[in-house]
Amino acid sequence: MAVRSLFPTLLYTASLRAANGPTLDRRLLRECLQLRADDAAGRRWSRDHYRGGYTSYSSASRMHERSPTFATLARRLDRHVRAFAHALGLDLAARPLAMTDCWVNIMPPGLAHGSHLHPLSTVSGSYYVRTPRGCAGLKLEDPRLERMMAAPPRRARGAGRAAHWVVVPARAGHLVLFESWLRHEVPANPGAGERVSISFNYSWF
Ligand code: FE
Repeated sequence: MAVRSLFPTLLYTASLRAANGPTLDRRLLRECLQLRADDAAGRRWSRDHYRGGYTSYSSASRMHERSPTFATLARRLDRHVRAFAHALGLDLAARPLAMTDCWVNIMPPGLAHGSHLHPLSTVSGSYYVRTPRGCAGLKLEDPRLERMMAAPPRRARGAGRAAHWVVVPARAGHLVLFESWLRHEVPANPGAGERVSISFNYSWF
C-alpha cells in the first residue's frame, strides 16, 4: 500500500538578511517611503485600486531599472529564482527568466489585497521590507480548487498537505517565490502599522 504525492505545488522561501545586511534593507525601506511621497500618479491610482494604501504597480513598476538599490536587490533575487526554476524542473537553456516588473506595496492596517494571479509571468514573488508584528501574511490557494465539484470539505484541523489554503507569514528580510499561476491574496492587514513589501515578476519571453 502506498500513498504518493503527484504534481506538487512548489513554494520557495529564503532569508536575504545575511546577504543584504541592514544597510540595503534600510535603504530599500527609505526608498519605498520616498517613492510614495514622490509618486503622485501612483497615489492617485492607489486611491481607486488600493484604498488607503500605496502601490507603484501602475506607475513605477520597473523599480529595478530606476534605482540602484532595487537593482542590487534584483541581482540577489536572480540567484534564488534560478534555484527555484531548477527545483521546478524548468528547461531554461534556450532562454533565461528575467525580471520584468518590480514594484512597491505599502499596506496600512485594514487593507486587503484580493485574490489574483500574475497571468503574463512565470515566477512571481515578494520581498518583505517592513512587517509589523502580527501583520498579514501571503495566503495561497490550492490550484485545483476550481475543479472540485461535489468534493467534501477538508477537515478544519489536521488536513495538513490537503488543506485548500496556506498562509505564509510575512517576515522582514525574507522572500517568497511561487509560480505565477498560483492564486494568492493578502488578507486584511490587522491593526499593526504599515506593512511594506516589494513584489516582482520574472518572465520567459
Ligand atoms: Fe500578487
